[in-house]
Amino acid sequence: GHQPQYNARSGPTARNEGVLRIVPIAQLNPYQNRWTIKARITSKSEIRHWQNARGEGKVFNFDCIDEHKGEIRATGFNQAADKFHPMVQVGSVYTISKGNLKPARKQYNPLNCDYEISLEPNSVIEECLDDPSSKSIPSQLYKFRKIADVQSMEPGAMVDILGVLQSVSELVSLTRRDGSDTNKRSISLADNSGCSIEATLWGALGSNEGVQLEQAMLSPDPVFVACKALRITDFGGRSLGTISSSCFTINADVPEMEALRRWQAEGGCSSLTALSTGGGGGGGRSDQRCTLGMLKEDVRQQVSSGSPVYLNVCGSITYIRHENGVMYPACPNKVGERNCAKKMREEDRGNERSWFCERCNFDSPTCDWRYMLSITAADFSGHSWLTVFSEAGEQIFGMTALALHDLQESDPPAYDRAIQEANFKPFVFRLKVAEETYNDETRIKSTVSKADPINYAAESKLLLGFLRKLKNDEPVFTCGAA
Ligand SMILES: [Zn+2]
Repeated sequence: GHQPQYNARSGPTARNEGVLRIVPIAQLNPYQNRWTIKARITSKSEIRHWQNARGEGKVFNFDCIDEHKGEIRATGFNQAADKFHPMVQVGSVYTISKGNLKPARKQYNPLNCDYEISLEPNSVIEECLDDPSSKSIPSQLYKFRKIADVQSMEPGAMVDILGVLQSVSELVSLTRRDGSDTNKRSISLADNSGCSIEATLWGALGSNEGVQLEQAMLSPDPVFVACKALRITDFGGRSLGTISSSCFTINADVPEMEALRRWQAEGGCSSLTALSTGGGGGGGRSDQRCTLGMLKEDVRQQVSSGSPVYLNVCGSITYIRHENGVMYPACPNKVGERNCAKKMREEDRGNERSWFCERCNFDSPTCDWRYMLSITAADFSGHSWLTVFSEAGEQIFGMTALALHDLQESDPPAYDRAIQEANFKPFVFRLKVAEETYNDETRIKSTVSKADPINYAAESKLLLGFLRKLKNDEPVFTCGAA
C-alpha cells in the first residue's frame, strides 16, 4: 500500500533500509562487492601508533555484532582511523558498507568470524538512530566457560568468564621493554564451578574499567562481572589477561546470571579452589592476609607438606633483638651472578682492619654490611619471631646497614635511638615461611622479605573487603596459596 512506502522514505534509517540490502555478518565473503551490515559496536580500541622498517602509521579497530549473532572486527589505518575512531561509540548501532573483506588475523582476533573488515577512508558508517529494529541486536555475545575449565585449556586461548568479583588490587605502574610506561591491575573472580582465578587488566583497562570495578567493590552487595575476551596464560598456575578488545560488564543481563547469583547467595564463595598461585612464590597476594596467630597452627600444617608458603601479615614490631648487633660483615665477592654474602671474619692486623672470607679464601680491607636480625611482631591474634635481612632491614630502620653501622661506631646513643624508633612501628610484612632443620631439629622459620609501611587508603579498602566477607560468612584471613 501507499502508507508503508511513505514510511520507508521518511527517516534516515528507513531510507537506508530501502536502498541497501542488509546482509547478515555470517554471510559476508570477499566475493561480494556491495554489502551493508547493520551491527552494534561491542568494543573499540584506542588508536595505536606503530613504527617499523617500512614506515609508521596508526591503527584502531572495533568489534561488532548483528541481530543474527554474527560478529566481525573492523580495522582502520591512518586516515580511516582519524575519520572513524571518534565516530563510533560502543553500544551504538551502525550500518557499515564499502569496506574490504580480508581473512581474519586469528592470532590477534578472537572473534568467531573468518573475515575482518578493512576500513577505507571512503567506507560508509552511519548511526541508526531511533531505529526500533536495533533493539533485537544484543549488546554483547558471550560464550561463557567455567573457571574450572580454564585449568585444562591451552595458554593463549581466549575465554569469556561470568564471575563474582572477589578482589581488586591497586593500580601498579610499570615500564615496557621499549621504555614506555603502562600500568596493570589484577582482579580475582570466582564462579559456581567452585574455582577462583586472577585476571590482569592492562593499560587503559586497568585505569578505567579497573576503577569502576574497584568502586563497585565498595558496595556491600556482591559484584557480578561478565568478562569478554580474556586470554589464558600459564603465569602462576593459570591466570587471565586482557587484550585491547576485552570488556567488563557489571551485573550484565545474561541468562547464566541466575545460577551464579543463587550459588553466591548460598555461600558458594566460602570455599574456593584457586587456579592462580599469585606468580609462583612472588610473595603472596597483596590483597590476601594471614595473621601472626595463624603462623603457629594453620601455616605450620601447610608448610610441613614441603614447599614454603608466602603470605602477608599486618602487625607491629614489639621487640628488636640487638645485643649482638643487627648486621653482619658480608663477603662482597661475586660468586657467579650473586654476591657471596657469607659472614667474614675480622682479622687482627695490628692497626689495620681486615676481613677474611673462608669460602672464597678472600682477604679484604672492606666488607659489605648487611642486616640480619630477629624481631618479634604482634597483631590482634598473637605474636611471632621473624627473621629480617637486607631490603626489609632498610625498610624497618630507614637507612642502609652501612649507615646504621657507621652510626654505631661514631655515635652510639644515636644508634640506640635508631633501634628504639623502629620498635612498635606497624608494617605490612611479606613473609616466607619454610621448614628448617638444624641439629636434627625441624622448626618453622618465618623470614621477612618486605616490610612495607602501611598505606592507609589501600588498607581501608582492604578492610571494607573484609567486612563484605564477614557479612557473606566467607573466611577473611587465609594462609595464602600453596
Ligand atoms: Zn666469600
